[in-house]
Amino acid sequence: DYGPAPESAQDALQWLADRGGIAGHYINGAFAPARDDFASINPATGDKLAGVTKGTRDEVDAAVKAARKAQPAWAKSGAARARVLYAIARLMQKHSRLLAVVESLDNGKPIRESRDIDVPLAIRHFYHHAGFAQLMGSELPDREPLGVCGQIIPWNFPLLMLAWKIAPALAMGNTVVLKPAEFTSLSAMVFADICGQAGVPAGVVNIVTGDGETGAALVDSDVDKIAFTGSTEVGRIIRTATAGSGKALTLELGGKSPYIVFEDADLDSAVEGLVDAIWFNGGQVCCAGSRLLVQEGVAEDFYARLKVRMDALRIGDPLDKCVDVGAIVDQSQLDQITRKVDGCHEGEVYQAKGSLPEGGCFYPPTLITGLSSSATLMQEEIFGPVLVATTFRTPEEAVQLANNTRYGLAASVWSESLNLALDIAPKLIAGVVWVNGTNMFDAAAGFGGVRESGFGREGGWDGLGAYTKPKGKATALKPVAA
Ligand code: NAD
Repeated sequence: DYGPAPESAQDALQWLADRGGIAGHYINGAFAPARDDFASINPATGDKLAGVTKGTRDEVDAAVKAARKAQPAWAKSGAARARVLYAIARLMQKHSRLLAVVESLDNGKPIRESRDIDVPLAIRHFYHHAGFAQLMGSELPDREPLGVCGQIIPWNFPLLMLAWKIAPALAMGNTVVLKPAEFTSLSAMVFADICGQAGVPAGVVNIVTGDGETGAALVDSDVDKIAFTGSTEVGRIIRTATAGSGKALTLELGGKSPYIVFEDADLDSAVEGLVDAIWFNGGQVCCAGSRLLVQEGVAEDFYARLKVRMDALRIGDPLDKCVDVGAIVDQSQLDQITRKVDGCHEGEVYQAKGSLPEGGCFYPPTLITGLSSSATLMQEEIFGPVLVATTFRTPEEAVQLANNTRYGLAASVWSESLNLALDIAPKLIAGVVWVNGTNMFDAAAGFGGVRESGFGREGGWDGLGAYTKPKGKATALKPVAA
């Protein structure tokens, strides 16, 4: 029993303290003894929130073993799986405030985002996949579960990425071992507690906390699939490590998504969309519209309107409901953003005028204009509140610039001419293209990238398919007559 929903950070911190102040593994339906191996820091203050256990190879193997043992029974009944998934969704709703506060404390994202976006979308993912488990009945037509899935997630959407991974895997009859990112393990701990309350059978959901070494141990372990979301660099390591192993693999990696504004666009809407595209979650979003391409004739006007809007952004305490831009997740991330911007000697840098809070990991919303398409910052993911911009003259040039990237995760096109927008959209090399919008997600729509943004989809039919394989049919071979 969680008691009354926490009204403030104090209550959430108390919730953690009541559990020993250490995040640790949830294996075979119970929390394992936890160790204070490293700290989870509140990036807005620098204070330690909790200790975190660094999972060892043996602990990973114990979790995989528990998942292996639980899998055949879990795969038997879609109706039983649906009941459990619905129960998880309802309990997440009941404790949505706790989840939102813990998420904002641990990650630094504004409470408005965790409360109105991360947590509701995560819950929606469980409802959606509960429905599919129900529909599947006892057997999937011509498909079967993969078995035990190892899942590794990043720190930018800790609960949402957990939901994207766990809900479809469970719905399709798999069991899971999930490793949260080292900076943000706490909402996974709340989730594990919810699993206990929801009647998830022991071994079906296992969570092992830790860093990259723990992740590497999970990749090496006896799992049937690795589902990874994170950087392209680590994705490459995992692809090499799993090559030839027979393990299924999906990779959701980085991006440098173009945000294309044509001269006939509704410029104020396009500015507002851009605030969402690049300053939502402080730009720490894989599909952030981080590369602005604006048509030459309106560029100066557009930049001027954008700067006015940047100056109005409120930067500060993530738990303040009025704050638009919170803290960067960790000092190491803040350092790499600072290094990249300070190392840029091209173009013109504009930073929002709003003052930054003292202490904590804060970085101002930043716009860099006048960069060439080949400039490092036009090509490299910054993963922070930094927008880079250049101009184009013709639609053909817009497409050419947009596709001049090693990534292919998302793209956004802004024009009042639907003919133009719908002509451009299919020419963009990206997993998802939004027209006059950005950051639109739904559990029923597949999300994922092409090129170095990865492969495989999460959500929708494709996301379900990624957690099943064709059913092996026993075929009696007749001896061939001599
Ligand atoms: P990261 O690759 O450093 O870490 C991601 C996860 O992998 C963490 O849990 C980490 O502990 C683990 N890990 C690190 N080294 C490992 C190894 N050798 N073997 C196994 N696991 C290992 O990424 P990050 O910094 O946490 O996240 C930011 C990146 O994630 C960005 O590039 C972003 O674009 C990407 N991302 C992509 C999506 C998507 O859906 N495409 C979504 C969110 C984030």
